[in-house]
Amino acid sequence: MEHNKRFLLVHPEISRNKYNFAGIIDNEPLELEYIYSMLKSMGYEPDIWDGQVETVSLAEKLKSFMPGYVYVCGRTRQESFMKEYCANSKEICGSTTFVGGIHAQHNYKHFYEDSIDFIMTSFDMFAIADILCGKSLSEIDGVCFKSGGIWQENAPKPFDAERLPVPDRTYFYAHLDRYRYLELLPCAHVRTAYSCPYRCKFCYRNRLNCGVYSARSIASVVEEIKGIECENIYIIDDDFLVDAERILEFVRLIKKNNIRKKYVCYGRADFISGHPDLMKQLKEIGFYYILVGLEAVSDRYLSDYNKLSDMSCNISAVEILNNVGINIMGMFIIDLDFKPRDFRELYKWIKSHKLRHTAISIFTPEMSSELMEQYKSRLITDAPCDWDYLHVVAKPSNMSVKQFYFHYHILAAKLFIKGWREGIYDFVDYGFYIRTILKNMFGFGG
Ligand code: SF4
Repeated sequence: MEHNKRFLLVHPEISRNKYNFAGIIDNEPLELEYIYSMLKSMGYEPDIWDGQVETVSLAEKLKSFMPGYVYVCGRTRQESFMKEYCANSKEICGSTTFVGGIHAQHNYKHFYEDSIDFIMTSFDMFAIADILCGKSLSEIDGVCFKSGGIWQENAPKPFDAERLPVPDRTYFYAHLDRYRYLELLPCAHVRTAYSCPYRCKFCYRNRLNCGVYSARSIASVVEEIKGIECENIYIIDDDFLVDAERILEFVRLIKKNNIRKKYVCYGRADFISGHPDLMKQLKEIGFYYILVGLEAVSDRYLSDYNKLSDMSCNISAVEILNNVGINIMGMFIIDLDFKPRDFRELYKWIKSHKLRHTAISIFTPEMSSELMEQYKSRLITDAPCDWDYLHVVAKPSNMSVKQFYFHYHILAAKLFIKGWREGIYDFVDYGFYIRTILKNMFGFGG
């Protein structure tokens, strides 16, 4: 595996289908920036190619950079791009190829291909360093590799978030005009923890990091934020509002350091409803959006999902955040059991509770999850590109797939018009989104 020391880190383009909503949420490639930082300290020459923002194709980048090594991350919907990028890297540069990220971690067998050399199955980026340093592969946790043409699987171990290096944000700073969360442009990402201590049935996030919640000290998080030259910070933990003491410490240190920024984070409705005063304090230090998995407008669904929260928490979370002036982004699941009236009731609830920002996702059993076993006989596709929460992947119980898409797109259009009237998406090209919604309504997915 002797190569030049150029190492290309690749983040795929978002999508090649008609559901390409680039320009609304474009994420800083933080995972790659951690690896970048580690490689630089080892004397390698790393570079990043992010398909969300690049204007040159990956093939052109490969030809000009000629990396000895290529690492590709991605989500389920990007699986085919990830494989294509590895094949291109082998063909053009003869690079040693690595794949990683949350899809590969849990579906590593999907990547058993000739053009892929290593599959990283944990968050421990130092396993890449071990491979580069020539450590015996059998002693490295969380990696799949070929030996004598047969794939070997070393089990992953939980990664201690405290070991994360300070990410090198050179690439982010060079593309400040591209990385955003809605109107917050530019918007930098910060990670303070991996995984989630809850066990909601539909969610795979709690299985990440071997199912172990691992959090950094708040002092190191605030130190990192202090050094970021960007006024908007998206805390990308699966759930930031886990421990009230930890959040109070965050508020205290942000105030002490006189840091003035806007923040986005995920939080649960039951936490918000149980801590109204803390929400006021978060508003004071700049919390701008809290993304809340409200999931449903009936206790039956919340209980089926093992959400360990209920409708009174949902209602109170919306009221509290509306009152303190933090934008709540309510995220809902469009269940495959929905009847036409469920779509209507969801809209009615959103309107009557004055919820301005919403996101709706079609119920999608994650690949390689227990839920997938339950839905196996109902699957209507196995194409990874459909795992984007915008496609129906399993047969609905109470209507045809075509009818389901019809109701889904009507709801999406109503929510979009509501948001447009309330002026919350003034930064987007409305013409483009209306055309996209109409195309989806009459094309019924795809
Ligand atoms: S839905 Fe949210 S709270 Fe539930 S397991 Fe997933 S990340 Fe945790």
